[in-house]
Amino acid sequence: AGILYIVPTPIGNLEDITQRALSVLRNVNVIAAEDTRHSGVLLQHFAINTALVSVHEHNESQRAHGLIKRLLEGENIALISDAGTPLISDPGYVLVNECRSAGITVTALPGPCAFVTALSGAGLPTDKVSFCGFLPVKHKARLSVLSSVEQSTHTTAFYEAPRRIITTLQDIADTLGPHRQVAIAKEITKAFEHYEVGTALSCIEWLEADSARQKGEFVVLIGPDTRSNTEIPPEALKLLRTLSEVLP
Ligand code: SAM
Repeated sequence: AGILYIVPTPIGNLEDITQRALSVLRNVNVIAAEDTRHSGVLLQHFAINTALVSVHEHNESQRAHGLIKRLLEGENIALISDAGTPLISDPGYVLVNECRSAGITVTALPGPCAFVTALSGAGLPTDKVSFCGFLPVKHKARLSVLSSVEQSTHTTAFYEAPRRIITTLQDIADTLGPHRQVAIAKEITKAFEHYEVGTALSCIEWLEADSARQKGEFVVLIGPDTRSNTEIPPEALKLLRTLSEVLP
């Protein structure tokens, strides 16, 4: 059987494609892309002429069957999304899952991913991280996801559309209080890349200072609940208990 390659593509700067990604895209029999027109432009830029088929959110289950058949017949296939790493808030899960069940080799290449890059650039704690994809669009559901972050000791990362960025930051301030550390990473790797690190309200202030700042792509990071640092460590509790037994 052939191999399914999962190939990340740039999230802005075209120089971020790896040598290995280029060679895989050049050498596979077919590239499965989320939007063949969009990816056609990228492939043309790198003078890659490999055939394209479309695999997007709405036809993935249906397409997976045909792609698995081709893999079993010995063809190699690369999966790409519009930008960044496939399967990360992008299609691919169904295909990879079914390939694994069918015993087909899946090789995922490392490469650009917006939330990982935001974490390395923002300077928030990165020892424990939760990635939540896109927040729900409905306000009530969004508030409920944000409330679940309240006592998290992780840095939480999610994606947000530009038209909701200010509302979401306001929701963060309302749900998690005005002091919680928040960062937005905008247009990563592009001409207007910017990291605003502070609180939800300071991020809103930065965005509102110029309406051009509200356009583009955003990663939102919420820092850990630092109040839980005041929790008594288990060893100290044990010692306290022992002491209370022996002390008068
Ligand atoms: N698979 C992609 C990845 O690996 O990051 C994510 C795809 S998701 C459909 C697109 C979202 O990712 C955007 O709405 C934005 O929140 C975030 N994103 C993608 N590129 C970005 C960039 N250059 N700067 C900031 N955020 C970006």
